[in-house]
Parts: sequence; structure tokens; C-alpha cells
Amino acid sequence: MIYTAALAGNPNSGKTTLFNLLTGSDQHVGNWSGVTVEKKEGSFHIGQDEIRLVDLPGIYSLSPHTMEEIIARDFLCKEKPDMIINIADGTNLERSLFLTLQLAELEIPMLLAINMWDELKKSGTETDCDGLARELGIKIVPISAKKGIGTDDLLRAVADLCKNGHAGSCGMYADLPVYDRIERIIRGNTARLRRHYVSRILSGDEKCFSELKLTPEQQCQIKEAVNDFCGGPGDSQTALADARYKYIQGLIRIYTVSKHSDSFTCAVDGIVTNKYLALPIFILIILGAFLIIFGRPGNALRDMLSAFIHTHIAAGAEAALQSAGAPDWCVSLVSDGIIGGVGAVVCFLPQIMLLFFFLTLLEDSGYMARAAFITDGLMSRIGLSGKAFIPMLMGFGCSVPAVMAARTADSQTEKQLTVMLIPFMSCSARMPIYALFAGALFPSRQGPVIFSLYLLGIVAAALSGLLLKKTVFRQSNPSFLLELPPYRIPEVKGLVRHLWYKCRDFLLRAGTLIFGMSIIIWVLQSFTPSLAPAGTPQDSLLGAIGRFLAPVFAPLGFGFWQASVSLLAGLVAKESVVAALTVLCGGSGGEALTAALPWLFTPASAYSFMTFALLYTPCIAAIGAIKQELGSWRRTAASVLFQTLVAYLIAFAVFRIASLF
Ligand code: GDP
Ligand code: MG
Repeated sequence: MIYTAALAGNPNSGKTTLFNLLTGSDQHVGNWSGVTVEKKEGSFHIGQDEIRLVDLPGIYSLSPHTMEEIIARDFLCKEKPDMIINIADGTNLERSLFLTLQLAELEIPMLLAINMWDELKKSGTETDCDGLARELGIKIVPISAKKGIGTDDLLRAVADLCKNGHAGSCGMYADLPVYDRIERIIRGNTARLRRHYVSRILSGDEKCFSELKLTPEQQCQIKEAVNDFCGGPGDSQTALADARYKYIQGLIRIYTVSKHSDSFTCAVDGIVTNKYLALPIFILIILGAFLIIFGRPGNALRDMLSAFIHTHIAAGAEAALQSAGAPDWCVSLVSDGIIGGVGAVVCFLPQIMLLFFFLTLLEDSGYMARAAFITDGLMSRIGLSGKAFIPMLMGFGCSVPAVMAARTADSQTEKQLTVMLIPFMSCSARMPIYALFAGALFPSRQGPVIFSLYLLGIVAAALSGLLLKKTVFRQSNPSFLLELPPYRIPEVKGLVRHLWYKCRDFLLRAGTLIFGMSIIIWVLQSFTPSLAPAGTPQDSLLGAIGRFLAPVFAPLGFGFWQASVSLLAGLVAKESVVAALTVLCGGSGGEALTAALPWLFTPASAYSFMTFALLYTPCIAAIGAIKQELGSWRRTAASVLFQTLVAYLIAFAVFRIASLF
């Protein structure tokens, strides 16, 4: 006989390891029809029988929020395999069983393989598999796919399931009368999968109404039952997830014994996630970290490095080149272009290291998961989860590490959305722009004007999040599974290694991307369109480009070439906007520039300029980081275009409104 078995489980539960162990080299890799998610098939023999094994994509639940979940559910419901081998990560049984409960509703013979048994043994956790099996109504086999432990038992269980397979049923439904109630309503519509349908209905999956061909009257009865279940018109999906978790936690309490008691974790969590204390503590921690990174200590380190680069490296290189008789342009290229440009970015290294030091500390100690938990409600309104909060917050410092921190997001969609929104947070490099313009055009209201720009950035991010959530990222799944890991003292070795990787990443980018960009800007600034040395910036290639672009900005109130050139320069680093304006306005900066600006700008166009500078495409270093995280130039370009479009529209609106006064 030939039987089909589906291998289902959470990502990283060891599916592939088990698959390879069982099938050896006998496997076939293709794609699920129509989508590019890997499909692996292989087979093995038990006596005379052949078992065809299909490795399903890793999933956390059966609710159709992601491609993987849809594929897995379609396969299980439509192809009806002869059995499901559900593999669970034994070290994370709670999350694994959440899926097990849903799989058991599919009425397919199933067995549960609790994997990572070796790890459990090592950590001294004991699991009563027989007790758990009785409770869940399915066969359970402890295994270690990596070490090959328990495979004989597993094969015996599979053989047994082939012969007299039965689907499991657990005791959870006894406490959930809503199942009985809805099952009775849909009894006439389907003979199979009633429990599965009730779960889908409670998860808000309205598609099953038409699949089951329910009459309006039945739908009404069902809605009533659902409302009763969650105590009024509410979120039945959350209520169902809560019920499942409560049941699972009960099982884990009864059937597993962990040697390590974490009363310490419980005690700390009692304070840190307390209803009233959570937010103040969170704010204090973040504020403390920011004061160190972007306050005096961080700035002092940055100034030291900057001074070192300028006095030692740049001046030294200049002197060396001059004494070697290098031509002027070569000296300027090396000291102004390369060392100036790359140096301006490398200066941020101490702050970036500090930032990552704190982030790693927060993450390794276990507090980050709590921070995500505390801010989750707030963030879910713009289609993100609490995990995105820290990266967004870091955006106020510098977009580059913030974008890199978005890596911790749970799903690809969420990471992309976070990465796209981070640049709207006003990074510290934009501060000099505000300081300059507020000082020149709003001398009596500098504070409120600058503060309003920070707020504007947040509002732009929130609105964009709402918009993207409703359009491009509709599939994003805001209900995320959050485990609160026990608190741990971070390991010094891991911390140091992590910091070193970040440092290397950053220097690598500075050495390649920014290096190239600095040379390009230097060339554009130093030569005329006919490639003769440029006397004034106005004659340079950059000036020509500025004049070409200027009309684009006319509707925003600053359609002159100096403004567009300085914005272009801001692509390299936002601080360059001020530097470029200094050069272009022919002054030596400071007082002269402050006096010159009111000739170019009105208060309305100045505010519009600041708005645009705040929101438009982030600097080249941030674009590099975005590319690294999004993984494709196409998506990076889309993100940059989106930001620039938002900047243009909001600056336009700001200018029109401000002009009324
Ligand atoms: P998948 O995502 O479900 O396909 O999981 P993989 O098969 O890729 O395994 C994820 C990780 O868990 C890999 O690093 C495996 O080496 C590891 N792993 C798998 N099974 C075991 C096991 O029984 N014990 C231990 N300690 N590690 C395992
Ligand atoms: Mg895999």
C-alpha cells in the first residue's frame, strides 16, 4: 500500500531534519503549484508499505494570514493525506501545541513527534508524553531528529497509524460550549470538519459562510453564538486564541516539570509589565539609553573621533600628498571628497556601537520582548506589532541602525513596513537643518517650530502606516505570537561578538557605498558641465542639476537652485543640507547664512522646506541599510519613491496652508 503523510509544524521545529532522516536522499524538491514556496517530497518504506512524505511549509496556525498557512491548509483539506506527522519543538511546546490543536480538528489521523528531546534532557525538563497523549487523544513520540533518537518508535507509530488510524480529540471543547452550539447550527450543511469550521468562524473567516451555504437565518444564529462567546460584539479571534492558550498552559503545567524555577522572572515581570508601572519604566529605560547615546557621552565620543579624523587623518593625508607633489585636485579629492565624506559618516560609529550595545543588552536580558508586549496595542493600529516600536524609536537617533534593528520583526511584511516608516522619524542629522531655519526665520518661536517638525514626522509615519496597511500590506498579520522569555544575564562573549559584527557591517558600508558616493558628489561639485574646474558652485555640474530640478520644487515655495542643490547634497547625509547652503550662499556660515536665508525664503517656504527635508528620501547610508534589509533594489526604490512622494505632498499642503496666514 502507498500512504501519504504530511509533515507539519512550526518553523524551526526540525521538519527538514526529520524529513531528511526519514527519506534519506530520496527526495524531490519543487514549488507548490503557482507559488515559490519550496515543496519537498520523498518516500520511505515500512515493511511492504510505502509512505510518501510531504514537507509542509512551517506554520504557527491554520488561519489563512500568510501564504504558508494557506498552502498548508489547502493541502491538508483538499488533498486529504492519510496522516499528519505533527512535529513539535519540545523546548517550545506551548507554541507548538497551538498548532497541534488546530491540526487535530482536521479529522486526519495524526501523531505528534516531540522533537529536540536531547535538549529537553539536557535542560532537565521532563515531559509526561503518555499523560499528554491521553489528554490530547493522539499518539505522542519523543524524538531527536538531529541525534536520531526515537526514530524506531516513530516508525512503529506511523505503521500503526496506517493500519488503524484515528483522529484525535482533546478535552478543550468541553469548556467551550460555543463549539457544540455552532456545530448544531451547521449540522445539516456538512457531515465533516464541523469543529474546523467552527474554529474558522470564530477566527472571523467569513468565507466559510458561503462554503457551507448557510442561510441568512443560520448566519444570524451563528453571529449571536459568537457574540455570546466573547461577551458582546468583540474579537472572537482573540478570545479563541486565549482559550486555546489557557488550555495548553494548563496541560504544560500538569504534564511537564522544568527543573529551573523562574520565580525571579515572575517577580520582575510583576513589576515591569504591571498595568500602571509598565509604561513609565519603559520610558525611563529608553530615555536613559537615549541620553547616553545622543546626549553628552555619545556626542563627546563622536566629537573625539571627528576631531581625530580631521586633524590627524585628513590633515596628515593632505600634507603627505602635497609633499609628494600631488596635483591640487588630487589633494582635494582625497581630503575633502573621500576623507570628508566617509569621515562624516564614520564619526557616528561610537553612537551606533552604543545604540547596539543597549539594544543587545535589552534583547539578551529578555526585556525587549516585554517592551514589544507593552507597546503592542499602540502599534497594531498602524499595522505593526510591538516589536517594531524599538526600531521606530531608534529612528530618532539614526535611521541606519534603526533599519538594521527592524530585522527582529516576525514577518517579512512587518519588516518591510517598519523599514519604510522608519525614515519619517526625524533623525539627529536633521536637527541642524531645523536649528538653522528656525533661527533665521522664526527667531522668537524656535522651540515650538522644531518640536512641531518632530511631531509631523510621527504623524506622517502613522498616516503612511495606515495607508500602506489598507493597500499594499493588507495581508500583514498584526496578531503576533509573543513569548516572554525568562530574564537572563547577557553573555559578555555574545555581546562583544554581536557588536563586532555590527561594527564591521557599518564600516563595510562606509568603505563601499559612502566612499563611492562621496567621490561622485565631489566630482559634481568640482567640475562644470564641460568638465573644466568649476570656479563657483553655481557653475558646477551640481549647480546645473540644481537649476534643472528647481522648477519641480516651485509649487512647494522653494523653486531656486540653491534649495534643490542642498537637498541633493542631503542625500549623502542630511547634515550636508546645511553645509551645502553655507557654500552656496557664499558666506562663511553662521551669522552670514542666518542673514542670507530670509532673502531666499519666506516663513511659509522655510517651513515647507524643513518639512520636505524631514520627510524626503533618507540619506545614502540609510538607503544602503534599507536595501540590505529589503533585499532588492526594486523594493528599495519603491520605498524611497514612496517617502519622497509623501514628503512632496505634505510639504505642498504645508506651504499652501502656511501661505494663507
Ligand atoms: P524546519 O524549519 O522545521 O525545517 O527545521 P530544521 O530541520 O531546519 O531545524 C531547525 C534547527 O533545529 C536546525 O538547526 C537543526 O539542526 C535543529 N534541530 C533539529 N532537530 C533537532 C534535535 O532533535 N535536537 C537539536 N538539538 N536540534 C535539532
Ligand atoms: Mg525546513
